[in-house]
Amino acid sequence: MYSDLFIGGKWVPSSTGDRFDVLDPATGTVIASVADGTPSDALAAVTAASDAAAAWASTPPRVRAEHLRRAFDLMTSRASSLAHLISLENGKALADAQGEVAYAAEFFRWYAEEAVRALGSVAVAPSGANRILVVRQPVGVCVLVTPWNFPAAMATRKIAPALAAGCTVILKPASDTPLTALAMAALLADAGIPPGVVNVLPSRSSGQVVDAMLHDPRVRKVSFTGSTEVGRLLLAAAADNVVNTSMELGGNAPFLVFADADLPAAVDGAMIAKMRNGGEACTAANRFYVEAPVAAEFSRLLSDRMRSLAMGPGTDPATQLGPLVNEDAVAKVDTLVRAALAAGAVAVTGGSRPSGPGCYYPPTVLTNVAPDAPILREEIFGPVAPIVTFTAEQEAVLLANDTEYGLVAYVYTRDLSRGLRVSEALEAGMVGLNRGLVSDPAAPFGGVKQSGIGREGGHEGLLDYTESKYIAVSW
Ligand code: NAP
Repeated sequence: MYSDLFIGGKWVPSSTGDRFDVLDPATGTVIASVADGTPSDALAAVTAASDAAAAWASTPPRVRAEHLRRAFDLMTSRASSLAHLISLENGKALADAQGEVAYAAEFFRWYAEEAVRALGSVAVAPSGANRILVVRQPVGVCVLVTPWNFPAAMATRKIAPALAAGCTVILKPASDTPLTALAMAALLADAGIPPGVVNVLPSRSSGQVVDAMLHDPRVRKVSFTGSTEVGRLLLAAAADNVVNTSMELGGNAPFLVFADADLPAAVDGAMIAKMRNGGEACTAANRFYVEAPVAAEFSRLLSDRMRSLAMGPGTDPATQLGPLVNEDAVAKVDTLVRAALAAGAVAVTGGSRPSGPGCYYPPTVLTNVAPDAPILREEIFGPVAPIVTFTAEQEAVLLANDTEYGLVAYVYTRDLSRGLRVSEALEAGMVGLNRGLVSDPAAPFGGVKQSGIGREGGHEGLLDYTESKYIAVSW
């Protein structure tokens, strides 16, 4: 298990020698003690990334691609140990962790293929006086800040396109889950990525460490995945040096089920959209809007499936729902559910936290939820499905759009024209139409409104790590 900072290709302690504990959320016991990066360590990492930048930017795209492809192969060969590590420090069920490793590795494969496609363009100026030549250049040194809910995939979704574009990076992982990020640093070194191109800096002083980097003029981009609240702080800090920003922020996904939907398929989709990662996903269905004639049947079918999930330590192969990441997460879910119940909601299954050790919250389905309940306004980030009934398409769209978030929405209907019409009307960066899963390394992932700026994945994800340079040329 790696537990030091990874700077300039070397494992180093923090400048103060301080360390912090990483806990197993299933038991509360200490798994490891990790070096606690300081602002001065952060600036050392910026120096390493800056020193490596020119050579990496001028490395032929094909060579960069081959490094990324080796990273894919290595990650695939280490899948089971990485999945165990993710499950251990995050708590998610092993099956979820295995799914995450496969998803995370695909970013290396996809961007190995995209590294050679950072195409520019050439055009004749309308005046005919010159040519307009546009080339794509790497942005430069990038600070990457990632959350705890997908410790591997949120890292590779940034590292892979950054490296493919020719950027160098400093990754600041979440302090609840730094071990997976450090294992990724070792993997990338084994894949032959030169020293300084990837640096990994766990820290408990995330605000100070990231702030120090964003105020260093050598840093040209920050790519953040996490809460909208922290995203706002980083946008403000990035404004000082006009640093390029990509923001993948919170979500509050609506899940619309029309009366003509294939109901068993909608329940299958709901189980994925709600329960992937135990509900701890920005894409998690947060609000279920079901058309009145099928609402009772949908609630019954969903409750039956939710109730049957086996809850236990994530590392136990029989577990289908692991613990939440920490005590604060359980307390937040518990508060939201209690408030909904106090306002008249009914718990068809679940609805109260179990006694005993571990950060557990049971699968819960709530009906009769008041439309203004906080549980419909805030990200639940847990295994709770609140169900609201609607009677008309326009009402469903209004309810779905009544949020400051706009990451993803899900729609189930057999009527294709309605499906596409509603998909276009929904204020979301992504829509799952008769599908409970949208994440795909080959597709542009991201949100509108307060869910973010920019896209990760697809070709757009590569372009987000490049700047267009226009050269006016006469020949
Ligand atoms: P978070 O509290 O915003 O933390 C995310 C990252 O930011 C962590 O590395 C955290 O470090 C760091 N951080 C915290 N305060 C900071 C500050 N003042 N300055 C700089 N960095 C700071 O979010 P989280 O609780 O880890 O993750 C859950 C959130 O992420 C949810 O809102 C979820 O929707 C969102 N998310 C979005 C996407 C997407 O693609 N849109 C994907 C996954 C998750 P520490 O761990 O040390 O606090």
